[in-house]
Amino acid sequence: MTDNGSDAGDTAGDEIAHQAGDVPVHPAYGVVRGVTPYASVLLCNNPGNMELDGTNTWILRAPGSAECVVVDPGPPNKKGHVKRVAEQPGIALVLITHRHFDHTGAIARLRKRVDVPVRARSAKYTHGAAPLADREVIEIAGLRITVLYTPGHTGDSVSFLVEWEDRRALLTGDTILGSGTTVIDPSDGTLRDYLNSLNRIIVEGEDAVLLPAHGPDHPQVGPVARYYKKHREERIDQIVAALDDLGVSAKKAKPMKVVRKVYADVDKKLWPAARMSVKAQLEYLREH
Ligand SMILES: [Zn+2]
Repeated sequence: MTDNGSDAGDTAGDEIAHQAGDVPVHPAYGVVRGVTPYASVLLCNNPGNMELDGTNTWILRAPGSAECVVVDPGPPNKKGHVKRVAEQPGIALVLITHRHFDHTGAIARLRKRVDVPVRARSAKYTHGAAPLADREVIEIAGLRITVLYTPGHTGDSVSFLVEWEDRRALLTGDTILGSGTTVIDPSDGTLRDYLNSLNRIIVEGEDAVLLPAHGPDHPQVGPVARYYKKHREERIDQIVAALDDLGVSAKKAKPMKVVRKVYADVDKKLWPAARMSVKAQLEYLREH
């Protein structure tokens, strides 16, 4: 969501991959790292608070397929990254997990190099094709890709269930990250949508490999999704207890008063972010 990198450091991370030997491990900048037989990642060198080590651009291709699919080409100002993405042979489609600019910023630059359809849930980021529909199945690059609406982080967030033979992976965008927890964008994300989406991911993707848009991949979606759910529910319980102590309803509570109580032991620099999160939780409690 924020960007504090520049083109200057775009190739600096190449050494990290080499130090780790022939088999790169996350975070490996500047190399295509194979994660499953049909999914590889090109990590962009745009680390930050929201981006963790940077944006994961996923390259999907069944073994032996001449075609591939690119998911989330990355931020706007990373020429080297876009060049590396565009060099992947046989790009037939670009998919977008959600509108944030560290995922969509590179679309224009990539389209100058490869003229292929770009598809997102939002028409704004869709080119040369229709926007994505929930439960739509895309057969491409020897794979079966099912679109799942998973709003909450943003209103337009989707996940992609990728199936090849009897193997499954779930690309979760920013809905589930490889480490830490995600934020709910106050402009169109809601906690209610987010919790529903976590439930949907647990049902649909339990045993799938987790391929997130930031941070390392994990062998199974289920445990990570359940951890996210538990974390959110614990926070909601804390807010309910704080409201009880303050003797005020979710409707009348002032977010900052709740922050002072629940986040008393947290650095005050983090309070504005905490306020955003408390606001989302109070909205959720008002509806329940
Ligand atoms: Zn995002």
